[in-house]
Amino acid sequence: MYDFDEREAIIEQTAERLLAAARITEPPVLPERIARALRINVLDRDLPMRRGQSYRYRGMKFVDIGKGARAERRNFTLAHEIMELELPDAIAAKDLRHEIAVRGAAALLCPTPFFRAACTPGPFDLFELKATFSTASHEVIALRSLDFAEAIITVFDNGRLKNRQTSHPFGIQPVSPPERELLRRAMRSGKVENETWDAASATAYPVFENDFKRVILHTLLD
Ligand SMILES: [Zn+2]
Repeated sequence: MYDFDEREAIIEQTAERLLAAARITEPPVLPERIARALRINVLDRDLPMRRGQSYRYRGMKFVDIGKGARAERRNFTLAHEIMELELPDAIAAKDLRHEIAVRGAAALLCPTPFFRAACTPGPFDLFELKATFSTASHEVIALRSLDFAEAIITVFDNGRLKNRQTSHPFGIQPVSPPERELLRRAMRSGKVENETWDAASATAYPVFENDFKRVILHTLLD
């Protein structure tokens, strides 16, 4: 079996190889360009039950992407399927390849060499990172930042908690009342909002698209 560190190493090595093959030396990472460099045939198809799939057939490599996906979702699916195709053959189990490729997709769209550098100088700014790593979604970028800095990332869709993850050593805690209040303010204003309380501070980033209102909270504990 592969432990966490081995998986991380495999992801890093694979991402590095793919970026080199596509001659990508700075963000944003276009997965389409990687597919072209590796002669992977990408087909947009009707896939009722899934977002994407990948396979080899007569020595050729294929990725099918479900039609109608938003650009960022399509990028993520394509990055995932490329990873799944290109992981070392030694990882034989299909389930395991899929599992590693879930993390691998974020590492491919936000590669460590570029992303670590972008994360560290100055205070965290999700919209600034998004301007640089434009092919990844706000959510992917926010969660990926936890690999390089301590914080809590909370994603709300239309006001409902969707995802909460932390890189703080003391683990995950429930959403606090000040964070709830911050969420309410950002939902109303549609603007970046800040809040400081006790030994914590947080910033809310609204990502609104028509009727769909996502708010991403970045919380720091001192
Ligand atoms: Zn998969």
